[in-house]
Amino acid sequence: MGKTLRICPKCKSSHSLRPAYNVSGWLAPEMFRCDNCGYIGSFYIEMEEEEYKRFRDNLSDEEENQYSL
Ligand SMILES: [Zn+2]
Repeated sequence: MGKTLRICPKCKSSHSLRPAYNVSGWLAPEMFRCDNCGYIGSFYIEMEEEEYKRFRDNLSDEEENQYSL
């Protein structure tokens, strides 16, 4: 079993999601925020590291540019 990654559903970044905090500073348990694109929500894509590499390889050049940091 490889490492499981949390992928941002908006920008497809694998390393920018972190738990979101609400305005009063309390952790919102089911919410995540993406440092890369600013996405906030409870939904994320969970993917094995190997699976994510294949997923990135399958992106077209245009999408690659769109999703790169
Ligand atoms: Zn993002």
